[in-house]
Amino acid sequence: LCTQKKIILTGPDAEAWALCDEEIVRRVLLNLVGNALKFSPDGGGVHVDLENSPGFVRVSVRDNGQGISPEHHAAIFEKFGQVRGRHARLGKGLGLAFCKLAIEAHGGRIGVESEAGRGSTFWFTLPVS
Ligand code: ADP
Repeated sequence: LCTQKKIILTGPDAEAWALCDEEIVRRVLLNLVGNALKFSPDGGGVHVDLENSPGFVRVSVRDNGQGISPEHHAAIFEKFGQVRGRHARLGKGLGLAFCKLAIEAHGGRIGVESEAGRGSTFWFTLPVS
């Protein structure tokens, strides 16, 4: 099944240095971009932003999908945490639990900004050194 969706790299920075395990951070990014694509509507766009801040790098992945109401924000980062909906059966609810463990093991932070019906922004930070 093919639908058309756009991935847009919106900066503000084009590159960043961070202290990280490349394979693990690749998996984190794949999970977040994969979810954003899965939950965004046909014709929708996923924005990936990279931002250097003093001491850390911030990556965010924004979609214009169904969003997640605040009462579910904590649960989706727990293992098997899912919001009931049409995509829930496609996954097991382990992706974000993995992301949280992986980012926190690096000394970074991870979170989501979202409301129902208003898309979602998942973000994480990694220490520079
Ligand atoms: P899975 O996708 O395998 O169910 P995840 O841990 O990646 O597991 O996600 C957990 C739940 O968080 C999803 O089932 C979904 O309810 C919600 N979710 C994750 N990403 C998004 C997103 N971009 N938009 C809306 N809901 C999301």
